[in-house]
This record gives sequence, C-alpha cells and structure tokens, in this order.
Amino acid sequence: MLQDKYIDMPVDEFKKYGNELIDWASEYLNNIEKYNVLPDIKPGEIKAHLPRHPNTTGEDFNKIIKDFEKIIIPGITHWNHPGFMAYFNSTSSVPGILGELLIATLNVNGMLWKSSPSASELEEVTTGWLREMLGLPKYMWGIIYDTASISSLHAIACAREKTGLDIRQKGLSGNNFPKLRLYCSEHAHSSIEKGALTLGIGREGVKKIRTDKEFRIIPELLNEEILKDKKDGVLPFCVVATVGTTSTTSIDSIRSLGEICKKENLWLHVDSAHAGTAAIIPEMRYIFDGIEYADSLVVNPHKWMFVPVDCSVLYVKEPEILKRAFSLEPEYLKTDVDSEVINYNDYGVQLGRRFRSLKLWFVIKYFGVDGLAGIIKKNIDSAKKFKQLVQDDPEFELMAPVPFSTICFRYQPSGYSGSLNELNSNLMDLINKSGRIFLSHTKLNGSFVIRLVVSGIRTEENHVIEAWNIIKEVIRANALNK
Ligand SMILES: *Cc1c(COP(=O)(O)O)cnc(C)c1O
Repeated sequence: MLQDKYIDMPVDEFKKYGNELIDWASEYLNNIEKYNVLPDIKPGEIKAHLPRHPNTTGEDFNKIIKDFEKIIIPGITHWNHPGFMAYFNSTSSVPGILGELLIATLNVNGMLWKSSPSASELEEVTTGWLREMLGLPKYMWGIIYDTASISSLHAIACAREKTGLDIRQKGLSGNNFPKLRLYCSEHAHSSIEKGALTLGIGREGVKKIRTDKEFRIIPELLNEEILKDKKDGVLPFCVVATVGTTSTTSIDSIRSLGEICKKENLWLHVDSAHAGTAAIIPEMRYIFDGIEYADSLVVNPHKWMFVPVDCSVLYVKEPEILKRAFSLEPEYLKTDVDSEVINYNDYGVQLGRRFRSLKLWFVIKYFGVDGLAGIIKKNIDSAKKFKQLVQDDPEFELMAPVPFSTICFRYQPSGYSGSLNELNSNLMDLINKSGRIFLSHTKLNGSFVIRLVVSGIRTEENHVIEAWNIIKEVIRANALNK
C-alpha cells in the first residue's frame, strides 16, 4: 500500500507479484507430491500464528507472500494432490485456475443481463453445452449456483411451488396446510434434508426410503410410503433420486422412480452432483436412463470436471416454475430489455452472482468433450485396477458395487477375533497419518467401510497402485493382522 496516495497496487507491482504468484502456483502443482495430503497440525495452531488485530498501515506484498507460505500453507489440506482420495474430490485444472484469475479481474456481477451481458449469455451457452455433453433432453434449462446444496434447495423450492399451495405468498406458518413430504434414499446426501429444513418442510417432512443390496431405493417401498402418507392426509410433493450416492455411488433408477412420480404427479429431482459428469463418456449415459421423467437435475462441474470450486449447475424442465418461486423484480432492477433476456437473479435466492461460466467455458474449450471424457475414463479405469487388487486379496472384502470410481472395502484378516469396525477405523487413521494418501470412510449396514475415490485430474494408475502398497505396508508395519 502506498501510504500517502490511497490507491490500489500500481501496475508494475501487479505484474511483478502476479508473475511471482503464477510461478508459485505452477511450481506448487508441479511438486505437489512433496506435501503431505493432510496437514499435521492441531486445532488453533494456525490462528496462534496470526496477529490478533489487523495491521494499521499497509504491508509489503513480499511479506504477505512470505506469511502465506509460512503460516497458511502448513494448514492446507491438499485437495489437488493425486493422493487425495477421500470424500468426493474436487481438483482444479490449470485452465480453470486461469479462468478464476480473469473472473476476479473483471469482477462483474451477473445479476442482470444488463449488469454484464457476456456473463448472462455465456451462462446460457455453457450450461447448454454441458447439457449436450451429458445427453440431457434439450428442454432442460441450466443455471449456475455455487454448490449442489443450493442447487437442490432451489429444486425443492420448485417442487413446493408446484403444489399450488401458494406458500410463496402465504408462508408456511399460521396456515392450515397439509404436512408436505419429500422422499429420498436412506443414502441421499444430507444437503437434501438441509434444503427441506431451510424451506420449512422440516426434517419430519423427509422420508428416507430403504435401499436394496446394491444401495438403490426400492421403488415398491417408495410407492407404499406415498400411498400410506396420502391415506394419513400428508401431501407428497417431491422425490429425489441420487445418481452416485455419497457412500457407495449407487444409482437410483430414475425410470422406476419417475414412473411413480408421473402416476402421483410428484416433482422428480435427480442429484448427480459428483457422478453426473461421467455421462460425458458415451458408455456411461445409461446412468440417466429415464431422464425424461425428471423435473430437475444437479451436477457439479467443480467435482468431477476439474473446474475450481465453486460451480454447480441445476437443470430444470420448466424454468418458469423456478422464476415463479423466486422472482420479485423491484423497480430499481427493471431494465428496458427484460422481455428479451435472461436476468439470472430472477431464478434464485441470491441477487449478486459470480461469473462462474467463464471458468466452465475455459475448461470445456481447453480439454474439449473428448478430453474431459478421456480423463474421467482414466479415473474409472484406475479405480477398476484398485477394485481388482481388493478382490484378488482374500484378506480384503469389497463392500459395494463400483459403478464409477469409488471403492468401498474393508480389511478382514483370517482368524481375526477382534472388532472389524475398530480394526478398519484404526487402519484408516494410520493410512492417513502416512501423509501420502487421504481416504475417508462410511458405514454400510453397521460395518465400518473405507472409501477410496479416484476422481482427481492428477491421479494416475500408479497413484492407485501406490495407495494399495501403502495400505499393505501400514498393515505390516503395525502388525494389524494380529
Ligand atoms: C457432493 C455432493 C453434494 C453436495 O455438494 P456441494 O456442492 O458441496 O453442496 C450433494 N449431493 C451429492 C450426491 C454429492 O456428491
């Protein structure tokens, strides 16, 4: 900060530090494997290194960069590391990173077409491209939000709007409405329940349907629950099918659930936040079988499509319903072109909107459809390799089918008399302490199960084989089979 002038950083400094930081970023990505995936720190350790009060006068940018390296980096979990195989990974590709740079540089707010025409029109075009890449029906209309949680919240709001109860106008409280019910899998993501509770549906308004041996909703049970609710005076309004559940990436049958929704006139939302992008590969299109029944679908380019967080796309069959649920059009936002353009703020809670379509555009243009399909296919093939290693080892058990690239497994040495849950929980902690890979877990029918997800742009087959070797090494070194 030039203390006496009260101006932004001068252009020559911007160039100098900008180039330095691009160098830093490229070296970081190039040498990322020298870091432990998980930082070895305790709660509060980062805060303790930061001043308690903001600096009164500006600091030299060199010092800011140094502090970033010295204080912030040690507390970073390296999501871009090829050994990050926990949760569902989101890795940022370089074109996506460069897109972010320009998004912040332009810093447009895409609330209205007029507030930045390119932002509105590029969002229309890129969501259209992605729809085509995934083989979704042409009538599906796309909008970009930050996360799948918010996309699904908007989908559930549409379903609520479609009940015709006019909750938008009247509100839920103080009215004698019937109890509303949404149905989803017992393996549905928690964001569905969060959306429901935000919209006043309440946790009691969400019924979780039991799944079959392959962790898919049992359609007959869904049908039974709907009929039972109707008999009890409850109003069913929405069904959520998950394509790629969080624990096992199981695939609910959109077609079977869709037939029920059609018969009962219910909104069908498809949550394919992580796995949906696999449909870029033509042989994977089957995951959306029955998509013609869907009223809405969410997919996250910021997960398995290498766009930096955040970027989630919601598709809706009838955008008018989304608009009806949220549009207010106050005087100060009216423009002379409103009848000819899309003003995206009309289709959601937020007014201000980041220019997320720019990074999506960069990523699609740089890799091309075949390039993205190729990377995802490579992830799936590497996962197959790991699955084979698990299946070929009698001391390991595969705990769920592997439709994509997430493997659920556990260690079960022969003759082991202790608790397998404790053993596997221990094993996972020791693996993660190695720093070389990061795995997460879930529980399936009461069993502690380790999950390994291959969905990073930098994760190659050799990393997957290394992961297997690390697991075996940890078992040997800690004599876990005893
Ligand atoms: C990751 C995920 C979510 C939540 O995504 P956010 O973008 O973090 O809100 C929801 N549903 C499924 C199936 C997911 O995989």
